[in-house]
Amino acid sequence: MIDQETERLNRQIIEQSKAFGADLAGIANVSDIKRSPSHQMSQKMPEFNGVGTLSVEGRERGVVQWPEDARSAIVIAIAHPPENPELDWWVSGATPGNTAGNRLLMSVVKKMADYLEQTLDIRSFKLPYHIEHGAVYMKDSAVLAGLGCIGKNNLLITPPYGPRQRLRAMLIETDLPSTGPIDFDPCLNCPMPCRKACPQHAFSGKVYTVEDYGMDELPGRSGVYSRIQCNRQMDIDIANAEAIDLEGQTAMGKRVKYCRKCEMGCPVGTAG
Ligand code: SF4
Ligand code: SF4
Repeated sequence: MIDQETERLNRQIIEQSKAFGADLAGIANVSDIKRSPSHQMSQKMPEFNGVGTLSVEGRERGVVQWPEDARSAIVIAIAHPPENPELDWWVSGATPGNTAGNRLLMSVVKKMADYLEQTLDIRSFKLPYHIEHGAVYMKDSAVLAGLGCIGKNNLLITPPYGPRQRLRAMLIETDLPSTGPIDFDPCLNCPMPCRKACPQHAFSGKVYTVEDYGMDELPGRSGVYSRIQCNRQMDIDIANAEAIDLEGQTAMGKRVKYCRKCEMGCPVGTAG
């Protein structure tokens, strides 16, 4: 049973995140996140050196290292509509963050961190993007925070935006209950245009099994999502990077437009 004061604090944090620019926000308790599929599986998965992973001395690749006092995560999302593709274009050499969407998310997190400390006396931990630098698995955290569910395209699907949003999380030292998950599953009887859109056939066969991992919730829901095949497309996208001028810098930057076909193929969140 959640007491009224806790419920009020959860609501206040969510509303303030939205006032600072988040389109969606929720809270996930750290003990729930630690039990979530990605956090459980990461210890058992084979080594993966693809795009988005890092080699950091003293850190096991893909394994989260929790700050000792972290008790809850605030998870925020900004919508990423098809008409604003630039939000996700990865620009090397651009700082802070490498995408415009990331900069928006970082700005919400910064304002929230100041607000929490100054108004509510709550200490927070800003999280970087990479797990090896101290991040957590954001999609699982977003499900627990009540933002949506993991779809058959292995992405977070939310009622208003489908798979088209960008995510960020921050940790706080206050022990708050998770505000999700919600009762929402648009994939149940869907003919899966998301999977059919994949140029690398990343959903074409079983990669992970219940027997090997001892859990039912696997990547792509049934274990059919191959990050190795998806990574092939990322390598192609990187090879096709465009050289661009960077404001205030003499050296040229590179802009990568990563594949979003499994995002764009999903009809959820496109009606309004
Ligand atoms: S296209 Fe259908 S199966 Fe794929 S994520 Fe969207 S709702 Fe789920
Ligand atoms: S991002 Fe592109 S390559 Fe990767 S799974 Fe989605 S559609 Fe396939």
